[in-house]
Amino acid sequence: MGYAGDVYEGEKQDSNDVCDKNSAAYDFCKCYPDAVTCNTIDLPEIVIDKCDPENVNYDFCKCNPGWCDSGDCNDPFSYTYPCPYDDIGDCTDPRSYAYPCDPCNSGSIDYDACLCDPASCDGETPTDSQDPPAEPDPEKILLVELINKLCSGTMKAQVAKAFDNNRLSKIEVRIVDEFIDNGLLGLHQVYDNNGKLLEWDNTKNDFNGTPSYLPDGSYSNAVITIYRENIRQTCTSDGCGNAQYYGINMTLEESVASTFSHELNHNTDLEFIIDLRNRREGKSSQNIDPHQNITPQEEQVWNELNNCN
Ligand SMILES: [Zn+2]
Repeated sequence: MGYAGDVYEGEKQDSNDVCDKNSAAYDFCKCYPDAVTCNTIDLPEIVIDKCDPENVNYDFCKCNPGWCDSGDCNDPFSYTYPCPYDDIGDCTDPRSYAYPCDPCNSGSIDYDACLCDPASCDGETPTDSQDPPAEPDPEKILLVELINKLCSGTMKAQVAKAFDNNRLSKIEVRIVDEFIDNGLLGLHQVYDNNGKLLEWDNTKNDFNGTPSYLPDGSYSNAVITIYRENIRQTCTSDGCGNAQYYGINMTLEESVASTFSHELNHNTDLEFIIDLRNRREGKSSQNIDPHQNITPQEEQVWNELNNCN
């Protein structure tokens, strides 16, 4: 529609047609009594006219969908993205506290305390030894989603391996959003058989105790901590995290993701885990360095993130 002032008085007095847009008598509601803005239904001719900027019913977003928020929470470009997640306990969904589906995941419907921890079932009444109660692990969900949205196939494969449904090794994830003066970006810890969380001792290159192991040689329970504020404080104009020292500029979230991937690798690197146990028990050992298998993979992740930016 035009605006007052662009028509001289008297100019259009030749027509009294309420449906003639060029007439001074033009009256949208009289002409289209059923139109939306006149409190009733939408007529086909109005719908068509919605893309006519002159029309009173002009709908910019309908006619220019690429310019407006779709309102679709599945659309990554919408402000409503992502859709709110409703945890229905689906153990096949990595976002669920019930994930993965295995008898030693205390959040899973398949959880079987006696199967995965026979010591807790010695008496008549099974006792929960060290498993935390079934609770959602929002930190894990967040980091898994972060990795899945980034372009590094190596990181995605690492996540899939660490949280594979068939793996009995449980991983609890913690994100620390305050600065901790420990020089760490991430930390991988394991529990011993008494439920004590062990620390890594750099001087003896081993944990300060004996981890609890599963029959396949992997750790029963691990805790991975991501020091996000520590990572954030490494950020310079060259990027965040350790990759910047190798000339690779990573964003904070890429650095958080690759740190998580690094720590997950500490829980899946069976070659090292078994070798360390052999060394501790005085058996034949290759004395593998804890990062021998992890550093090359981490560099691969950095390169992938760098190349797809
Ligand atoms: Zn490490």
